[in-house]
Amino acid sequence: MPENCLFCRIARGELPTELLLETEHVVAFRDINPVAPTHILVIPKKHVPSLAGLEPEDQALMGELMAAVKELAEQEGLSSGYRVVANTGSDGGQSVNHLHFHLLGGRSLQWPPG
Ligand code: AMP
Repeated sequence: MPENCLFCRIARGELPTELLLETEHVVAFRDINPVAPTHILVIPKKHVPSLAGLEPEDQALMGELMAAVKELAEQEGLSSGYRVVANTGSDGGQSVNHLHFHLLGGRSLQWPPG
């Protein structure tokens, strides 16, 4: 499935997407359908289906993903705050089955989500 996975293809550079950040294990790009002035997706290059698919050996990867979120939030000037979301599974509203963190900011975000 990683061959056809949309985010695997983006990570491999097979789709025309501007990468905002790329490290050995992580890439980040703007969401195609932004719901806030800043809406960035941060993903592992490795195919992990969701948070529920993480293995114990992915701990360092999770650290890298969160470090990337922090760096991107600084790059975007989100000094007033931001939100990080990982929709997981059908009840969580996940539509792309490759682990991704939404970095949302640039406006006041409401709580609770729908
Ligand atoms: P989720 O619903 O949490 O699985 O989030 C998937 C996100 O991927 C949605 O916010 C989509 O707008 C976004 N998305 C889908 N296709 C692309 C694409 N080709 N480039 C960037 N973002 C995308």
